[in-house]
Amino acid sequence: MTQITLALTKGRILKETLPLLKEAGIVPMEDIFSSRKLVFPTNHSGLRLIILRGSDVPTYVQFGAADIGVAGKDVLLEHQGDGYYEPLDLGIARCKLMTAGPVGTSVPQGRLRVATKYINIARQFYAEQGRQADLIKLFGAMELAPILDLAHEIVDIVDTGNTLKANGLEARDEIADISARLIVNKAAMKTKFNELQSTVDALSSVVSK
Ligand code: AMP
Repeated sequence: MTQITLALTKGRILKETLPLLKEAGIVPMEDIFSSRKLVFPTNHSGLRLIILRGSDVPTYVQFGAADIGVAGKDVLLEHQGDGYYEPLDLGIARCKLMTAGPVGTSVPQGRLRVATKYINIARQFYAEQGRQADLIKLFGAMELAPILDLAHEIVDIVDTGNTLKANGLEARDEIADISARLIVNKAAMKTKFNELQSTVDALSSVVSK
């Protein structure tokens, strides 16, 4: 029997993905949140779930270690990989990718220091704007960088804006609308067409409801 591996992004996206999967008739055989396992069989014997860090999902799918995956558009834009299709916007985990800086300050003349975990996205954004920017890679707590003068500006995802506000920052420019997307390995889409297409179809009818 053909085995399909579906890679899910842990955290907020996982919480919003599981109800969609359930509506599409896909249910893990065990409670994912109370387990430390990384691989979960489902009620479909040919379909298993793996739980990954978001930034690893496109890597697993690109190389075919997972056939299909759910990842944030921010992660996909930053990954810049190929080897997969992006057939479906799941419409969950919506937020915006934005620049932000300290309230009431303006962008300095000359070189801008920008802290972000989205180095590729930021490089492209500032280049398109014709602005010189020195990029500083961080892995978390981006909001701290302008407070401690590590950077003038950050590039980060913003949902309610509460995190920015709580740290004396305000959003400046919008870079992209973000939501979770379904991605499918290109080679698997040929070799496991029936199984993968029916999974994509099942999710797409749930999403379009
Ligand atoms: P907020 O305070 O609602 O603007 O949320 C901002 C923080 O929540 C960001 O720094 C992110 O780390 C996280 N966040 C917001 N939306 C998402 C999302 N859709 N996926 C993952 N993380 C998110």
